Amino acid sequence: MALQREIINQLRLIVGEGNIFTDVFDLEAYSFDSSMYTGLPDVVVLPESVQQVVGVVNLAGQYRVPLMARGAGTCLSGGAVPIHGGIVLGLTKMNKVLELDLDHERIVVETGTVNLAVQKLVKQHGYLFAPDPASMKASTIGGNIAENAGGMHCVKYGNIREHILGLEVVLANGEVILTGEMDREYASPDLTSLFCGSEGTLGIITKAMLRLTLVSEKIGTLLAVFENLDDAGNAVSQILANGLLPSSLEVMNEVITKALIKYMNVDLSPNGEVTLLVEVEGYAVELEAQMAIVRDSFIANHAITFRSAKDQAERAKLWEARQGINGIFGQLGSAQLVQDPSVPVDKIGEMMRETAKIGKKYGVIICQTCHAGDGNLQPAIMYDAKSEKQHKMAEQASDEILKIAIGLGGSVSGEHGIGIENCDLCLSSLIKQNWFSWKSLSEC
Ligand SMILES: Cc1cc2nc3c(=O)[nH]c(=O)nc-3n(C[C@H](O)[C@H](O)[C@H](O)COP(=O)(O)OP(=O)(O)OC[C@H]3O[C@@H](n4cnc5c(N)ncnc54)[C@H](O)[C@@H]3O)c2cc1C
Repeated sequence: MALQREIINQLRLIVGEGNIFTDVFDLEAYSFDSSMYTGLPDVVVLPESVQQVVGVVNLAGQYRVPLMARGAGTCLSGGAVPIHGGIVLGLTKMNKVLELDLDHERIVVETGTVNLAVQKLVKQHGYLFAPDPASMKASTIGGNIAENAGGMHCVKYGNIREHILGLEVVLANGEVILTGEMDREYASPDLTSLFCGSEGTLGIITKAMLRLTLVSEKIGTLLAVFENLDDAGNAVSQILANGLLPSSLEVMNEVITKALIKYMNVDLSPNGEVTLLVEVEGYAVELEAQMAIVRDSFIANHAITFRSAKDQAERAKLWEARQGINGIFGQLGSAQLVQDPSVPVDKIGEMMRETAKIGKKYGVIICQTCHAGDGNLQPAIMYDAKSEKQHKMAEQASDEILKIAIGLGGSVSGEHGIGIENCDLCLSSLIKQNWFSWKSLSEC
């Protein structure tokens, strides 16, 4: 649908000449996210204030034009792809820090602010913003909230929902609401959680009050390689059963481990099936005891080799490698389909084994990582972008993986969202559970 000149002219008046794009080369840049889907918008606007956002929302409503909020476009489930065209409303120019209140351990930012910018700012004051998606160098606070993003440290700190104190949101009718502690009069029920994970469907989040966390006095990082998934899984269970809550419990399969050694020169052992990266933190006096529990679990579960990071430089290198995993995917396949099913923690081994079998069945490489503490897996299926056949096979493999997760009592997404990628699967699952029928859906 080509937008009428009248609408474009009105948008230009709302956001200003420098903040509107209609040229096809510019539109292309907003036609994809980090998934495999594309869709060209008719116009892109980059408002600089909440008043401008309200203006755009009202105009879209008046002319019934599709409208999509967008942060950095790092979404892995197609949630930021404008498949119906219309207006893309990018928030990247709304990136100001509005208030840093260390007495109350919180910061208020516009939601186009990049996650890492918040991290860097608060670190200078001895704080961290706990949600740390691997995309944090690019992804925005608004996108993180809309997807209820997690990260390496969510086993201890939880997803972003636990770190949002309040929001400013522009609703579809142009009304601006304040939630939680942003609503200084506390005049309404706290709707903050409702918007965490709402994937842009309930409103455009324009400001957020974030909870800050004091950096721990000391951090210990340990690494072990296991011959098989069972041993690694048992080590994880033993760590948790001992009442220890590590801040990270990351599992990487053999493909990833070998690729990290080859392409990022990381000091890992190529001999096992699984690498486990564990981080513990706390006061200096308690750290050695925590690390001893982890080491004991490695030994008791037959780790082939294990060690602790000897200093901050080695720790930084290990995390850089873990966070940069997506960067080496390009060496393994020209395209990737990344999923993020969640299963109960005691089913992780089974899920990873079944996923590997699916990889063999379709003849595709599957890189597997997992936030083991909360059962969130990230199988990444490598395929040849130029081959329609391989693309189809990757999609089939992906569907099978998600169905296995559901069968094991899990869900199709732990932190990347439903987007357009998993929409059909979710709907058919709800229909199977008799929530509604295709007929009732088509009548909506
Ligand atoms: C290399 C890589 C690593 C990743 N690692 C992780 C990870 O560790 N953990 C994790 O959880 N995710 C991860 N992701 C997925 C992705 O980065 C997150 O989902 C992120 O939160 C998206 O933020 P964004 O700013 O890019 O949002 P976008 O991709 O631009 O948008 C995502 C969705 O949010 C909506 N949206 C964006 N901004 C707003 C707003 N202000 N108000 C309302 N709706 C809005 C959009 O409409 C869309 O539906 C990774 C992605 C990549 C490419």
